[in-house]
Amino acid sequence: MDTAETIIFVSIFALAALLIALPRMLGRRERRRRDTAAGGDPESKESGRGESVPADGSESVVSRLTEAPDSGVPGRRRLRDRLGKSRAPFAGMRGRLKARQLDDEAWDDLEETLLLADVGVLSTARLLDGVRDRARAEGRSEADGLPALLQAEITEQLDDDVDRTLRLDAGRPNAWILVGVNGVGKTTTAAKLATRELASGHSVLFAAADTFRAATADQLAEWGARVGVDVIRGQEGGDPGAVAFDAVQAAGARGIDLVLVDTAGRLHTKVNLMEELKKIGRVVERTPGALREVLLVLDATTGQNGLAQAREFADAVGVTGVVLTKLDGSAKGGVVLAIEAELGVPVKLVGVGETADDLVDFDPAEFAAALVG
Ligand code: GDP
Repeated sequence: MDTAETIIFVSIFALAALLIALPRMLGRRERRRRDTAAGGDPESKESGRGESVPADGSESVVSRLTEAPDSGVPGRRRLRDRLGKSRAPFAGMRGRLKARQLDDEAWDDLEETLLLADVGVLSTARLLDGVRDRARAEGRSEADGLPALLQAEITEQLDDDVDRTLRLDAGRPNAWILVGVNGVGKTTTAAKLATRELASGHSVLFAAADTFRAATADQLAEWGARVGVDVIRGQEGGDPGAVAFDAVQAAGARGIDLVLVDTAGRLHTKVNLMEELKKIGRVVERTPGALREVLLVLDATTGQNGLAQAREFADAVGVTGVVLTKLDGSAKGGVVLAIEAELGVPVKLVGVGETADDLVDFDPAEFAAALVG
């Protein structure tokens, strides 16, 4: 073969190799693009569920639920797996900071990532200050250490000796009232709480104190039948306080440990709603000491927008803790920091799916690791 023939032969060979490899490369690129567009990190087992109840109530929410695909998976791993959308901005940042200097651009990147995760302006500023102090103290000059410093700072800012336990003294009626706007996940959270309290050996009763929407009481009854809990309910449009009162009385008479009170999320006016919630609390307290928790249920997908509602509830009724639901479908997990800093109310539990098992105790270190680590 002379030189010209060799060149032609090598060119044909290279062209053939390119034609074989090209479709595969394009396929891989497309898959990466789809993963990014879905907002998840590719390792995540994000289920993509979490859409709201059909407005016409045509399909039963409870009946379309199946067992959690990872039932029995410890909360720690489940939290990390389900936090895919919120993890994505931090995973992106980690990639960008590799092998870079800790310069203004790196700090800007950190700030933007925190804002993107809906940490909020005030909490972002607090976190940045804390991370800067840590970086200075450790004499850091490279940016790839920032995620670890951030993780430590988030843990510390959330920890702060906060009591996140749910109060319950077995052997006497304890009531936990669930409040929050419609659709945030109150009824589902009641079912999740019942499931875990039953598993710890406590007896449970539901009070359907949303007498405004009959469908809610039906949904609660359906959950009750599923998880094995009786429901006290009233007439449609009846007095929700009376339902709560009857439930606490029934719990006393039957020796039941815990009454979970599901309330309305909307009435004719906001003032009516807040007054009604206050009244439910007073009625429960006719059995002195029975009111143990007022849990504000917030939907994580609303992020910072949910904070305004949260403030109204927190100001009107003595909220003792927050249950942050739908963290599995949210890219706004950072809102936990804003809730704690701005409302001064501890996040006690997080919802990570639609089944009765998808409730996880909120643990700052686990959360920080799941988000940033
Ligand atoms: P309520 O009006 O506040 O009582 O809200 P529901 O309990 O009826 O819940 C509204 C919708 O949110 C339902 O489709 C639930 O299955 C869904 N939901 C509740 N909690 C979670 C959660 O943690 N994750 C997801 N993905 N969906 C949830």
